[in-house]
Amino acid sequence: MRLLALLADTERQLSGSEAREHLIRSGKAIHHTTVYRTLEALTAVGLTHAVHGPGATRYGITGEPHHHTVCQECSHVAALASRHLTEAVGRIEELTGLRPDSSGSLLVFGRCSRCGG
Ligand SMILES: [Zn+2]
Ligand SMILES: [Zn+2]
Repeated sequence: MRLLALLADTERQLSGSEAREHLIRSGKAIHHTTVYRTLEALTAVGLTHAVHGPGATRYGITGEPHHHTVCQECSHVAALASRHLTEAVGRIEELTGLRPDSSGSLLVFGRCSRCGG
């Protein structure tokens, strides 16, 4: 439940080890196996979802539909609300026939602002 609150609060897509670091910093010691098991269980029931990009698998809360941006440099994953890209996604499908998979989510690769151009 703390994991769920963590992901909901931050709206972030965290790897298991990042989630564990956050919990430890907030004074909750937790074994990494427990973190991963919990994240897997939450994902299995659809409360969270896994993002398989480069690097560690990230987990995010399943709320508002969103795509994911992935930095190829530092593997940072961020959520991007789908409503911002409705037209772009429609255009991509029109031009290439490519559609988001059943999750409705696209992975967009690039370099994040921290890593620069
Ligand atoms: Zn997500
Ligand atoms: Zn980066």
